[in-house]
Amino acid sequence: MDPWFASSKTCHIYQHKMDAMTPDIRSWVCLTCPTHHNRDINAALNIQHQGMIKLKAEGLPVPAHGGLRKSGRSSVAA
Ligand SMILES: [Zn+2]
Repeated sequence: MDPWFASSKTCHIYQHKMDAMTPDIRSWVCLTCPTHHNRDINAALNIQHQGMIKLKAEGLPVPAHGGLRKSGRSSVAA
């Protein structure tokens, strides 16, 4: 994984990267989705995603669901 990948401040859905974020900010709202991200959970999802990109690059099988939630942008009426 790229050691400089900004996992905690990059949206795990749209990869929108936020500007500088101080360590005391525990959650933030993406300007693209807009999804309210928990900083640590968002980072974990990004790291998982990066890991799967690496597995794919090496030709290894990757779980079908991909571990990414597409929350907050459903256009289908309930
Ligand atoms: Zn987003």
